[in-house]
Amino acid sequence: GTGLMVEDLSHSYGARKALSNVSFSVERGCFCALLGPNGAGKSTLFSLLTGLFTSKSGDIHVAGFDLAKKPRSALAALGVVFQQPTLDMHLSVHQNMRYYAALQGLSGKHATRRIGEALEQLEMADRAGEKVRALNGGHRRRMEIARAMLHEPAILLLDEPTVGLDTSTRQAITAHVHKLARSEGLTVLWATHLVDEVEDEDQLVILHKGTIRADGTAATLRGARN
Ligand code: ADP
Ligand code: ADP
Repeated sequence: GTGLMVEDLSHSYGARKALSNVSFSVERGCFCALLGPNGAGKSTLFSLLTGLFTSKSGDIHVAGFDLAKKPRSALAALGVVFQQPTLDMHLSVHQNMRYYAALQGLSGKHATRRIGEALEQLEMADRAGEKVRALNGGHRRRMEIARAMLHEPAILLLDEPTVGLDTSTRQAITAHVHKLARSEGLTVLWATHLVDEVEDEDQLVILHKGTIRADGTAATLRGARN
């Protein structure tokens, strides 16, 4: 089955075309890296996938739901980690998680269970009482990923989640998300401009100047290049 499907998607900012007839799909349970240099259109695609922008042309299906026709179901299937951290610095990790659980309609024992599970999966349980501002960059990112998992999404979208982190922290975050994806059977779309970050993903989609340049496994794309 298809986790994520994008068909003939275009977007312009005034006269500037940011995406032109973009089509690709990610099978359920697959880890897809969306690779492209700055300006390729990755963030624009994320804005469309998360409903921040409405597409005037093209279709987006999330976990089988048409985003234009069934936005609530489609968005409920998504966990999102934006490029810029959106954290409440003065709250503790646990308070952050509680608040976002409540926004997702989770309360009481169910919320407590999900917060515990999500923090455990990101190995953040021992940080629950710490203020976010006291955490380092890697732990903040892990908390954001745990937070995106609270409502048990089928699909996790991450827009350059390792920007600003050092190499070993980046590798740790990548490993955490891979482990999470495997254990939960998640469909993942991971946007990055860092080629070395996307070695062993199931699928590589290369975006350049708003169009898809390549789509396949890392092995097939390497074969095509050599
Ligand atoms: P990426 O995330 O891959 O760096 P973006 O989606 O941010 O790419 O940008 C794609 C193109 O759209 C670029 O040419 C960029 O300059 C342009 N763009 C992005 N946001 C805006 C905006 N708000 N107004 C005008 N042009 C924009
Ligand atoms: P503060 O920032 O004021 O010290 P905390 O965020 O540590 O507050 O705790 C807020 C509430 O959440 C408290 O009732 C605390 O017992 C509870 N809490 C903190 N961490 C956890 C956790 N890991 N699991 C369940 N409850 C927690």
